[in-house]
Amino acid sequence: MKPSHIEHLGIAVTSIDAAAPFFEFLSGEPCYKKEVVEDQKVITAFFKVGETKIELLEPTCPESTIAKFIEKNNGRGGLHHVAFNVENVAEALAECEAKGIQLIDKAPRKGADNLMIAFLHPKSTCGVLTELCEQPK
Ligand code: ZN
Repeated sequence: MKPSHIEHLGIAVTSIDAAAPFFEFLSGEPCYKKEVVEDQKVITAFFKVGETKIELLEPTCPESTIAKFIEKNNGRGGLHHVAFNVENVAEALAECEAKGIQLIDKAPRKGADNLMIAFLHPKSTCGVLTELCEQPK
């Protein structure tokens, strides 16, 4: 596997509205996209830092995995996942599986910002939730 770059860093926040000014200051640019991802029960907001993005994740309900993550992190959230950009997520998943890496997603699914995505289990990735992303063709 040879990812081209870190596609984004996923950061869990309790409020995108409260967090956005800092990330706009840090990236030097306004948030370029805000999107609700229904099946993950989150609102996302994106900031560009060169080729890499910052993805803020705010839970839409207490059952959201992001809400549970924030709860476990002193109610404040923090770095949630690291996403690597690959040419083909399905092929990358097959490679990971062949290496014995535990997968969360057995097949690519649609993520925020039009990407095809899949997650690897933190048990196999040194405790860091890891996402593989493929750009829309
Ligand atoms: Zn992500």
